[in-house]
Amino acid sequence: MPSTRTPEGEFNRCGICGCESDMEPSYLFNDATCPACGHLLRYPAKVPAFSVVSHKPTRSTSTVIRQTMWLISYRIRMQIRQLKRRTLGLVFASAR
Ligand SMILES: [Zn+2]
Repeated sequence: MPSTRTPEGEFNRCGICGCESDMEPSYLFNDATCPACGHLLRYPAKVPAFSVVSHKPTRSTSTVIRQTMWLISYRIRMQIRQLKRRTLGLVFASAR
């Protein structure tokens, strides 16, 4: 199991592969990706996403924006990958 422990990480268990991790959920979506399989891990919402940033400015706004941009691009890439996988599955299924 990969070591993903960070001081501010939150425990979660992947619903797909069962991997246990202490990921730091994103501020914007309050989720993280499973370190083992990349599945999206949801975290219970405790504090409204942006109030965390405004009340506890432990990170600069640019860092949050950069992470948010990365996450959005990552999600798009993951969706494209899933779409490709699904399309390939259909192709293989119809070829049989
Ligand atoms: Zn997983």
